[in-house]
Amino acid sequence: MKASVRRLMGRSAAHSRRSFLKKAGLGAAAAGFWADSTLEAITQNVNTRSKPSDLKITDMRVAVVVGAPMTCPILRIDTNQGISGLGEVRDGASPTYALMLKSRLLGENPCNIDRIFRRIKQFGFHARQAGGVCGIEMALWDLAGKAYNLPVYQMLGGKFRDRIRCYADTDMSPDPKVYGQRMKARLDQGFTFLKMDLGVGLVEKIPGTLTKPLGITTRELAQTQHMFTGMELTDKGVALMAEYVAAVREQTGYEVPIAADHFGHIGVNSCIRLGKALQKYNIAWLEDMIPWQYTELWKKITDAIDVPTLTGEDIYLKEPFEELCRHHAVDLIHPDLASSGGILETKKIGDMAQEYGVAMAMHFAGTPISCMANVHCAAATENFLCLENHSVDVPWWSDMVSGVERPIVQRGFIPVPNGPGLGISLVDEVTRQHVRGPYFEPTTEWDKERSWDRLWS
Ligand SMILES: [Mg+2]
Repeated sequence: MKASVRRLMGRSAAHSRRSFLKKAGLGAAAAGFWADSTLEAITQNVNTRSKPSDLKITDMRVAVVVGAPMTCPILRIDTNQGISGLGEVRDGASPTYALMLKSRLLGENPCNIDRIFRRIKQFGFHARQAGGVCGIEMALWDLAGKAYNLPVYQMLGGKFRDRIRCYADTDMSPDPKVYGQRMKARLDQGFTFLKMDLGVGLVEKIPGTLTKPLGITTRELAQTQHMFTGMELTDKGVALMAEYVAAVREQTGYEVPIAADHFGHIGVNSCIRLGKALQKYNIAWLEDMIPWQYTELWKKITDAIDVPTLTGEDIYLKEPFEELCRHHAVDLIHPDLASSGGILETKKIGDMAQEYGVAMAMHFAGTPISCMANVHCAAATENFLCLENHSVDVPWWSDMVSGVERPIVQRGFIPVPNGPGLGISLVDEVTRQHVRGPYFEPTTEWDKERSWDRLWS
């Protein structure tokens, strides 16, 4: 692209070549600023083949969105050609996880996604610590797609589906009738897959339901892994939790899959007893009954009950998923793309799981940016089952971005967008209203971070 064109565009004026041309054309028509022949001459000189090979990362900036309903740091990676890529650090994580990697990105061609990913993947770890690596990887795909004018799903090998099935989390109520009505409302909204919270908190105030060390605090329980709390359900507790599910099923019927999550930190034997009691309610999966790291304990639970089990929202990279799949320790996996290694790694995870006959549901809690990264990956991964969404009740959530149909979740599905990259642009007027702290301010303090990063000698 000519320097004169770059100057006319300005970095913030146009986020993609396509939008630049559209804007330039519209601008010319409105203001009579350029004669048609001038515009033609300029665009003829844009060599769209060689340009991506000269693309270089020049900056990375952040903005922390709050109330989405989670707190989500979003990223913008800028380039020397006026196009920018959007990414998102996982909900609840610090933007520092991304910013500390900025100096390793500057000057790189963002289209070399796998090369950059392999350079920075050592700085990710499980759960939120992977947030920086994954958020950057999303933004690189967005940039590569904009540079080559292709949607991300196409660069991944094409799509298996045109719309992505979603399930929506639904706020808990101690009253199963109230909760059943909330679930019924999700069906009326068009959702075809449901998930409920089914924690021991539902019964803990009822005497004789839960055995646990006397005096142990809620905080202690929350910070202690399930096998180490000493908390077990009694027969009465198991029966009451099963009754709760029965009351919900009464209102939803048995045709729709209902998954269950957030059981509380009960021991393995309580997990098995509860799982057995829930068999007759055809639960789609029992999620994170124990931490994902305990493959053999997971297998013990999975082998003992006839209800599918699932874990994985905090796992970084493919290898731990393969450990779970190879042993059939869980029936389904549940990566969060913002923890699992980003778009390409998550497709690899899905493809690996498919070989073991394991389906992939996807955990997600974030803004439309990470949502669209999930949508492209889900479209391009054959064994995908359904994608989580926590934000269908947040009124401004869909309006943060343009370029896709809104609301983003339509009758329980997200149409796969065809625009370049992730297929979205940020709507600054809306997003800015929901940001805490700086809005894509300079981050030059991270430009020169240096370290000898090699992992071997
Ligand atoms: Mg979960």
